[in-house]
Amino acid sequence: MLKIKNLYVNIEDKEILNDFNINIGSGEVHALMGPNGTGKSTLSKVILGNKKYTVKKGNIYFEGEDITKLSTDKIANKGIFLSNQLPCEIDGVSTADFLRTALNVKEDVPLYTFIKKINSALKDLNMDESMVHRSINKGFSGGEKKKNEILQMKVLEPKFIILDEIDSGLDVDSLKIVGENVTNYLKEHKDSSVLIITHYPRILEYIKPDFVHVMNDGQIKKTGTYELALEIEKNGYETYKNNSASIVSEL
Ligand code: ADP
Ligand code: MG
Repeated sequence: MLKIKNLYVNIEDKEILNDFNINIGSGEVHALMGPNGTGKSTLSKVILGNKKYTVKKGNIYFEGEDITKLSTDKIANKGIFLSNQLPCEIDGVSTADFLRTALNVKEDVPLYTFIKKINSALKDLNMDESMVHRSINKGFSGGEKKKNEILQMKVLEPKFIILDEIDSGLDVDSLKIVGENVTNYLKEHKDSSVLIITHYPRILEYIKPDFVHVMNDGQIKKTGTYELALEIEKNGYETYKNNSASIVSEL
């Protein structure tokens, strides 16, 4: 579904991603872990076509099509969704208006259908109905912003979902709710795939990954299963610090 080949990305003159490769199949859940500043959020923004970052080399393919140079709206309309690490506040636009407008780009959704959909998502996420009528994320707590991202996911029904540190800022109850909502979404959308960026195995107890990747210095150093996430929690990232050919060759 999503394939990234030999991707090199700079911000200003600094190289962030260097020869980044990943292949995510339909219906798969991939977790991406790695120390701070290694380029995880950069990757998520580059996939969505953020033009602050310069793609020096390499390509991003979605369902076989090269999307590397497309604009963000075109990428989003293909069904790629990003829950940002730090969701922004947008004053003057309510979440409900934003979502209805976004859905209507593809087809006219009757108001009744839309209200039913948004209300059911609110209920699933244990969110107050008034939240969708407030300016997007304005004055929301960190955890409320994260839940609001999942609400958007549920309403927009993307094919490919990137969750950038969705677990940061969530209390234990909200973490459970968010985890269960993503898992249920995947049960109802069997072809959808997820790339979940996280530091902690905790969220992976709810959203079971098929693959866990460890990233460092702008590239994936090791790929494994859930056990790899547990190993990282125990031992940290020290082993994956240098460009260790021996680790890569084990794959
Ligand atoms: P991660 O998500 O893995 O913690 P990021 O992708 O956010 O890492 O950042 C990777 C590196 O790029 C960091 O060193 C960060 O300081 C740098 N970086 C990211 N955005 C910018 C920017 N707009 N200007 C300058 N440096 C940036
Ligand atoms: Mg980040």
